Amino acid sequence: MKKALVIYSGGLDSTTCLFWALDEFDEVQTITFNYNQRHNIEIEYSKKTLEIAEKIKNKTVKTHYFSIDLSQIGGNALTDLSIDVPKNRDEKIMEKEIPITYVPFRNGIFLSIAAAIAEKNEITNIIGGWNMLDYSGYPDCRDDFLNAFEQSINYGTKMGSEGNRFKILTPLIKMRKSEIILFGKEHQADYSYAYSCYNGLKEPCGECDSCILRRKGFEEAKLKDDFLVRIGKA
Ligand SMILES: [Zn+2]
Repeated sequence: MKKALVIYSGGLDSTTCLFWALDEFDEVQTITFNYNQRHNIEIEYSKKTLEIAEKIKNKTVKTHYFSIDLSQIGGNALTDLSIDVPKNRDEKIMEKEIPITYVPFRNGIFLSIAAAIAEKNEITNIIGGWNMLDYSGYPDCRDDFLNAFEQSINYGTKMGSEGNRFKILTPLIKMRKSEIILFGKEHQADYSYAYSCYNGLKEPCGECDSCILRRKGFEEAKLKDDFLVRIGKA
């Protein structure tokens, strides 16, 4: 039986991974992190998407929730409410600068915990929605980091050292946002509750990096954003 663990925030990219994984694997589990993020409303929305996915794919998803308070580290706009989320940044600048929304080594921390949960559940495939185009420039989302980390997991776990090799799967790594959306739609992805905004408002702000990249993605894909359709703002 092919099993996979999806690192699932409830955003657009990880929702795409969830729907893809449900087509590719016999059993899918998810791990969702509550890290005291400004936008932890995404966790509530993610549960809706999971319900929809289970219905469409006629499969049960085993979910894991993990709390780790990264606001204790702070220094960034996603876990420190005194730091504002940047608004209306130019895409050219997004490509060059690592923004204040970078949570120090967040993906490294998440991957460590995901690897531990995967090992305990005898899962060797770990899936994440990282991508290097149309992204905010976070270094722990890049393929060189992810390849190196895969190796570290294999050196540092019982399963890996016994020859059950872990794989970090990155189906979206080379896709533009529009390609991610179209790829998701090929796998019946429903983005009605896929929440991307950094600000954590009930309705997306439309001005943060994440909202800007998402809007551009739907425009280039020539599709309406399911979330905005649902709330009557498309
Ligand atoms: Zn936003």
